[in-house]
Amino acid sequence: MTGTIELSETGGCNPTMGRILPSILFVVVHLILFQITTVAQNNNPYHLPIVSDTAVYHAQCRADSNNLLVDLASYIPGIQLDIRYATFENFTGQVIYPEAKAFARLPVANALKRAQADLNDKGVGLKIFDAYRPYSATLLLWTIMEDTLYVAAPWVGSRHNRGCAVDITVIDTVSGNELEMPTAFDDFTPAASPTYSALPQAILENRNSLIEVMSRYGFRVLDTEWWHFDFEGWEKYPLMDIPFSELEE
Ligand SMILES: [Zn+2]
Repeated sequence: MTGTIELSETGGCNPTMGRILPSILFVVVHLILFQITTVAQNNNPYHLPIVSDTAVYHAQCRADSNNLLVDLASYIPGIQLDIRYATFENFTGQVIYPEAKAFARLPVANALKRAQADLNDKGVGLKIFDAYRPYSATLLLWTIMEDTLYVAAPWVGSRHNRGCAVDITVIDTVSGNELEMPTAFDDFTPAASPTYSALPQAILENRNSLIEVMSRYGFRVLDTEWWHFDFEGWEKYPLMDIPFSELEE
């Protein structure tokens, strides 16, 4: 009898089922594809070339170890972390990162290691506020603060997304206290400019010596933020959207 669906003993279908099944499969496959596309678009609404697949990242590391995103706290002796986006203590007042971690590409990590050794000889050292930032966090920051004065334009992406930028200050290695700098981290006033000069001499010296040691090892300070440094050759590294949890060995 047609119109009923009966399974044969071998689990096969009758002719009606044979006609319906391809239609069901067609719908299911298209629903799955729609879901995947929607998720991809949500995480990459500007269609940028972003590495978001951990397997692709691993393949890139095998092809060139410079692509490795290195855990700075374990790689650089004595380096301090104060990852503000993993706390409420940042300009958004919200927790952006699930973990307080700092990663950077291998050559960036090596340069920071040398800068740290130099500073340690003078009784001071580096403290990191932010390093590699997954692209999803850049999108999230943009939804909170749609202003390129505060947040990297998500249609371009940040050098932090490439693992080639660090937000950094200097601490006294004995007390652990930060040296006095022109402004706090993520203070968006004119005094945050690395060329702002209406400051006490001691503060100017602290800021300028940080810029000097960082530039010696290949970093260039951002012209609006004394704490932000881009590593030379950043444009060779792709934007990334791999969460910290997938970078841990
Ligand atoms: Zn920065």
